[in-house]
Amino acid sequence: MPGERILLVEDDERIGSTLLRALESTGYDVRWERNGTEGIAAAGDHRPDLVLLDLGLPDIDGLDVCRAIRLADDSVVIVMLTARDEELDIVVGLDAGAVDYITKPFKLAELLARIRAQLRRATPPRASTADATGDLMIDTEARRAWLNGTVIELRAKEFDLLARLLADAGKVVSRETLMSDVWDEHWFGSTKTLDFHIAALRKKIDTDDQASRISTLRGVGFRYETS
Ligand code: CA
Repeated sequence: MPGERILLVEDDERIGSTLLRALESTGYDVRWERNGTEGIAAAGDHRPDLVLLDLGLPDIDGLDVCRAIRLADDSVVIVMLTARDEELDIVVGLDAGAVDYITKPFKLAELLARIRAQLRRATPPRASTADATGDLMIDTEARRAWLNGTVIELRAKEFDLLARLLADAGKVVSRETLMSDVWDEHWFGSTKTLDFHIAALRKKIDTDDQASRISTLRGVGFRYETS
């Protein structure tokens, strides 16, 4: 999503400037540091949503940088950029607090897709969310939903859609936002698939004796009702 903050820690000028350009033109707010010391400091100042961290830095081992950033902020998403693709390094990196790794040389499009996926995964709510009446609950990490304590079987997109609506419960979420957040694409064509999934979701979460939990605002979007 545009405006999300990315901290790039990379000492290679060529790779760094290429990444900076690509990330900025995608709409991210990017800060680039060229060594571990400044990377750790910037993670504290800049409060990034995601850190793209080169493991081979001139001053501090990238794994130690990873640990230091993770220690200071347990919610930041750290993606390692590494020329070392030995299994052990990757395991150690993931242990040090990284959530993903990309080996050099990489394809720019793939790197951008991985960043987008990691940021989307980290989008709040990260823990359980309940609606105002508390009879519908979801756990976004476990990807499970319950209605009055009973598990509801939702397909992947139905779950994503419900989670997205619930994240802004009581507010209208536009069709465009739902298409881009749930389907992860800029949608220029028909959004019938959205209506189809809303209908399927209503069948699973609505009870017959009440109005739908999801209101339609024709031509605008949908709202998860809080009462
Ligand atoms: Ca390097």
